[in-house]
Amino acid sequence: MKSIDIVIIGAGASGLMLGALLKDRDFLIVEKNPQIGSKILVSGGGRCNITNEKVTPKNYLGNQKFIRDIIKRFDQHKLLSWLNQRGLTPQLKKENQYFCKNSSKELLEVLRKEIDKKNIQLNTEVMSVKNIDGIFAIDTNRGKILAKNLVVASGGLSFAKLGASDIGYKIAKDFGHNISTLNPALVGFTLQPEQFFFKELSGISVDVKITIEKKEIKGSLLFAHKGISGPAILNSSLYWGKGKITIDFIPNIKLQSLKSSKKHISNLLNIPNRLAKAFLKELQIEDKPANRLTSNEYQKLTLLKNYSFAPAGTFGYTKAEVTKGGIDTDEIDNSNMMSKKQKNLYFLGELLDVTGELGGYNFQWAFSTAFVCAKAI
Ligand SMILES: Cc1cc2nc3c(=O)[nH]c(=O)nc-3n(C[C@H](O)[C@H](O)[C@H](O)COP(=O)(O)OP(=O)(O)OC[C@H]3O[C@@H](n4cnc5c(N)ncnc54)[C@H](O)[C@@H]3O)c2cc1C
Repeated sequence: MKSIDIVIIGAGASGLMLGALLKDRDFLIVEKNPQIGSKILVSGGGRCNITNEKVTPKNYLGNQKFIRDIIKRFDQHKLLSWLNQRGLTPQLKKENQYFCKNSSKELLEVLRKEIDKKNIQLNTEVMSVKNIDGIFAIDTNRGKILAKNLVVASGGLSFAKLGASDIGYKIAKDFGHNISTLNPALVGFTLQPEQFFFKELSGISVDVKITIEKKEIKGSLLFAHKGISGPAILNSSLYWGKGKITIDFIPNIKLQSLKSSKKHISNLLNIPNRLAKAFLKELQIEDKPANRLTSNEYQKLTLLKNYSFAPAGTFGYTKAEVTKGGIDTDEIDNSNMMSKKQKNLYFLGELLDVTGELGGYNFQWAFSTAFVCAKAI
């Protein structure tokens, strides 16, 4: 049986970019889904947040030097120019984020056009991999495939319904790699009974400042049926272990400055009235003119600036955008993405212990790792 020069597991963001860059090489992308790029299609609310105007290692959890070296070889400007040359001009939107103009399909089409159909084999699920005398024997549901080089681009654990599996971590472990603890991230929080009153506020969105460990995160919080979500919460989930988070629900208000006002306190907090009233009820403060609040009531109100609690957990992998943690980056050569444990074995994208914030950083990471690998393999 003839071995293929390069086999890539996964037709997601990193696997497709690698395929697009490999062009005329002898390679095969194996994908378990009946279609390519399932996560790309649903990402960014269907318009795929491809990258960000400002990308620095600080936008990622993980080894900062490892990340810097990879991103600088194929940063957001190089990615945008590569896409431009192929007819895609992503649109700069809020928070410096670049999106497809109308649909994620635009990005997927660019990648698809760069890869010959014969180089993609769909409906092929990889089960396990062995290395026998320098050749990778890849067991799939459709038989064995042999490869001289194997690139694992099978992504993280979130959204199993879009094809996610743990195969990449399994392969890494089988070849002696360490995997740091995996957790769902960029995901909402569930609540303890003390915060169940939040659930009645479902649908309300409010700008907050969240402090978690030593990190400050600003952005909007969305009250949801299951708990709390929205960009500020999703980013907080990157830094959350099991402890407390502190939310300032009125980051632009100084309570002292309200004291002389004759307006009702619920109208002065600059948050949706339903939210103000729920908090006043919770704190057992009557909604009355601010100048009639007692100092004890003002004291209680400071809780709005300093609301500290421990979430019960997260919404889990079914809702998480990414998997936090992954393959130890000390064991990967960042000049080519090759394993330091097994020659000719490469790992890309979300599988590594690098996780980006919300804002296009995770696709940027997937594409940068693919570029670095393509130049070397
Ligand atoms: C709902 C949602 C929205 C998101 N929105 C954004 C966004 O707007 N911007 C952003 O930067 N990031 C976003 N992300 C994160 C981003 O999609 C991922 O970080 C990125 O796709 C990771 O790329 P990857 O190549 O590592 O893996 P993936 O893109 O997940 O690709 C892995 C591929 O491997 C295949 N596979 C898995 N197991 C096997 C197997 N055993 N055999 C064969 N194939 C297999 C999978 O089916 C998949 O096609 C979003 C994620 C989700 C879930």
